[in-house]
Amino acid sequence: MHTRWTDLWSTSPLFQHIQHIDPFAIKHSFLKLTLSFSKRLTGLIIGLRTRHLPLNQHLFRLTKTDSSDCPRCPYIDETVPHYLFECLHYLAARQVMSQALGRKATSLSHILTDPEAIVILVRYVNQTHQLKSTLPKT
Ligand SMILES: [Zn+2]
Repeated sequence: MHTRWTDLWSTSPLFQHIQHIDPFAIKHSFLKLTLSFSKRLTGLIIGLRTRHLPLNQHLFRLTKTDSSDCPRCPYIDETVPHYLFECLHYLAARQVMSQALGRKATSLSHILTDPEAIVILVRYVNQTHQLKSTLPKT
């Protein structure tokens, strides 16, 4: 069963995304990482990894919005990297994350796989209020 699942998973388009972020995802590290997480926090981490979150690039793909642009940055897609690392609207929250994580604050693989970095990431998400419906207060 595990072998069959592994074979199916390795052909999934999401596999490349997740392999890039966490090469050990297929080896149960994700389950170990999220064992103590709430369902909503696990959902956030999965959403950030798969880029399936209520950000306009994804919503536009689903025809749920008229534009993939960031609501605050015209002509720039609201992607996960834009939301986490680039959008100037969240500069203050990002500075808090940078102070806590240093250079690793710009590493998507670090902030999505390191348990201590995930705590800081949750603070960032809560400060931005962008994914409010995705995450409870911590
Ligand atoms: Zn923006």
